[in-house]
Order: sequence, then structure tokens, then C-alpha cells
Amino acid sequence: MAKDNFVEQIADIDSDFPQWYTDVVLKTKLVDYGPVKGTMVIRPYGYAIWENIQKELDRRFKDAGIENAYFPLLIPMSFMTKEAEHVEGFAPEVAVVTHAGGEKLAEPLVIRPTSETIIGSMYSKWIQSYRDLPVLMNQWANVMRWEKTTRPFLRTSEFLWQEGHTVHASEEEAMDETLKMLAVYEEFAKTCLAMPVLTGRKTEKEKFAGAVATFGMEAMMHDGKSLQAGTTHYLGQNFAKAFEIKFLDKDGALKYGYTTSFGVSTRLIGALIMTHGDRRGLVMPPVVAPVQVVIVPIASKKEGVLEACRDLKEKLAAAGVRVVLDESENSPGWKFNEWEMKGVPVRIELGPRDLEAGKCLMARRDTLEKGEYALDSAAESVRALLKEISENMYNSAKARMDRRIVRANTLAELLAGVDGGNFVRAGWCGCRECEDKVKEFAQATARVMDGENTSDTCIVCGKKAERTVVFARAY
Ligand code: ZN
Repeated sequence: MAKDNFVEQIADIDSDFPQWYTDVVLKTKLVDYGPVKGTMVIRPYGYAIWENIQKELDRRFKDAGIENAYFPLLIPMSFMTKEAEHVEGFAPEVAVVTHAGGEKLAEPLVIRPTSETIIGSMYSKWIQSYRDLPVLMNQWANVMRWEKTTRPFLRTSEFLWQEGHTVHASEEEAMDETLKMLAVYEEFAKTCLAMPVLTGRKTEKEKFAGAVATFGMEAMMHDGKSLQAGTTHYLGQNFAKAFEIKFLDKDGALKYGYTTSFGVSTRLIGALIMTHGDRRGLVMPPVVAPVQVVIVPIASKKEGVLEACRDLKEKLAAAGVRVVLDESENSPGWKFNEWEMKGVPVRIELGPRDLEAGKCLMARRDTLEKGEYALDSAAESVRALLKEISENMYNSAKARMDRRIVRANTLAELLAGVDGGNFVRAGWCGCRECEDKVKEFAQATARVMDGENTSDTCIVCGKKAERTVVFARAY
């Protein structure tokens, strides 16, 4: 049965989600395993998603006044040790170069796990006066964090990301920047990835090593687990003091700057796969989909069919749509399965009968619904449909997330909640022991703290709660 080919190719999404994920990323040719354990090769279909993510985010950064720069991959080991929390947090994950050019190096070099230190050292050279502030820079780069258990896109020893690094004259301005970039990420996730997120501050335990405060956006995956999809950090003067980032202020006093950093990575590709995928495979959000429309000719040997398909392809491409015409020898049924598995948002079928009627058939990947559209206005119809698909994907994912955020008043309720694939909101007194207890009892971690005031009691110790926390199992 050609119709159900996909069932044989990928594991069942509900009964074996981890295998479904592995099958989908490999079989749709997004990624492959690299020869060094824990590394991944991003194949063209996967890299095209990243390019679209970059394009969309980069425009938003530039609108926010951020400029791109590039800093070196290698960081002197001594830099890493200048900020105490930072070195402690990253020490277990760093890869170190000890030999080069056939000789042992005088000082070992760290392959960047993140660039606060090297960028901080350069900022200290470049910043003299309040007139030099704020400094708003970003770099698109690879980083390396030696991980023990890895999965393509979600956790790999080398990954691609962007890291923004800013310096400000005041605490308030730096905090504003931290929250502003979190809002940029949230809007980007909604508009471009059709992905709803929860945003909020991280607990001390979950914050970035060296930050005063970390804010994150968390997305709910198909199995109800959480995925940290992006973070922004208010670094206070921690790195400014470690790297002597000082400026002469208006009042003539020499002061330390306040810094921030923020990043998203190729993890976002894993996030969109696990947010939107279904039993047939990928479901690509239209804004970042490498291919937005595939045209499948029906009875392609019949006179005029291929010509009409090529003509339609040109029209769509001219309208700015990323379109592919599948002229391969495979049967239409085989092509339907293949492109469905690859998650292409819209499939257009065009055959002799459609041509006669001046119509074409469009099938949506998100709902699998089909409809007839006039051929001569196909480009406008496609653009409207892509927009509708994007909104529908966001709304469905949002409805699912809202439905699966539950409250708990006891640890047993919390455990039942996360066992059932939910995010669980609960009161927390703010102490590390209670947070650890939740982890131990329910294998769930504090994802974000809600800003709201709470009259709750701590779910562990019963004391007055300082915060409401969203707990979940996480990738
Ligand atoms: Zn407590």
C-alpha cells in the first residue's frame, strides 16, 4: 500500500517518540552523524532551515541596532578562569587544545564554549568613555561543549548559534536590553517557527554560569517535555570586573560597565521538529521551510502537463515562494509520501483534468485538507494559504500547551502531572533544597519562574511561596 509507506519508514510518534525523532531527522536528510562521537553533519535540507532562521533573526537584530562581528574560536585558558562561576560551570564541558604545530603550547587554548571572556577582553580595549556606550554586537558562530549524551540538534558537542554581547552604562539599561532580546526571541518563535513559548526568569540553579539573572523561553514538545529554546542573560558587572571593561562617565568617574549576552542555536531546529511533527513526519513552519510548495504533476506524460507545471513554478518563484517541481520518475503517490515526510507546507497537484478546468489542487500539510484553486491566481492563493498554515500551526501548538499546563499543590500531584506529559505550575519557597527535592522526586526541573505574586505555599516544605514556578521534564 503506497498510501501508508511512511508508516514503515518512521517509528510511531506516540509510542516511541525518541525513535520517531531519530528516524525523521535521518530519513528526511536534515542531519547525519559525524565521525567523531557527538558531532553532527547538517545536510542541505537542515542547513536551509538554519539559513532561514538566520535571515529572520539577523534582520530583527539589526532593527534593534545590533551589529555583527566575529571573534576567534580559540580562547586562552587563563581567560576562562577569570570569572569564578563561569569557569566552574563550563569546566566539565570544555575541549582544550594543548598541541599545535607539532609542539606543546605554552598555554592551553580552550575551544570556545561561549565567548563572554574573549569578547570581554576586546571590549576592555575598545571602550574608554560613556560616549562609546552602548556596545551592541552579535556573532554567528560555532561553539563546542563536550557532552556525554548527544542527539542531533538537541545536544551535540559542536553546534551553530548566535551570541549577542552588549555593554551598557547602567544596570537599568542592561536589564532592559536583556528583557528586550527575550521579547525579540519570543516574537521570532511565534512568527517564524509558529512555536508558542513560556518566558520567564530562571532559578539560581538553572541560570547561566556567571550571570546575575538568566531569562529563558521554554517550548512544549510533542511528548509534553520542555525544551529551552533560547536564553538572555543579565551579567551585571561580573564580566566587566573580570575583564576590566571600564568607562569614564559624564561625572568624570571611572566605572565598570554592565553587560548582557543572549543566544539561540541550531537547537531551534530540534524544537520545531518536536513541536509540530506528526505520524507522517515533519511539519515545517512556512516562514522557515526550505521548500514551501512542491508541485507534483499528475499524468505528466500527457501533453501540456509538465509545461503547465513549469509555468506555475516560475510564477510562484517570481512571487517569492520557495517552490520545487518534482519531475522525478516516481509515482505521484510515492512523491506525496516523500514530501509529506519532509513537511512541505503546501503540495500542488496538477493534471490534465485540472488544466482543462483551469484549476489546481492544493493540499495543506498541517491539516491534510485539500482544496481546488484557480490556476491563474494560484500565487496569491499560495501566499494566503502559507500565512493561514503558519497561524493555524501556532494556534494548535498554543492550545496544546495551554491545555497541558496544570497546577499542583503536592509533590504527588506534580509527579502525576509530569508523568502525564504536562508542565506543572507550583509554589516554591525559593530554596535550593526544595528545588533539588522536586528533581529527585519527579525528575522535573524548574523551567521558568512566573512574575506574578503568589499566595501559594511551597510544594515541598509548605512554607510561604516566593515564586510560582513552572516545573517540567526537559530535553
Ligand atoms: Zn520550600
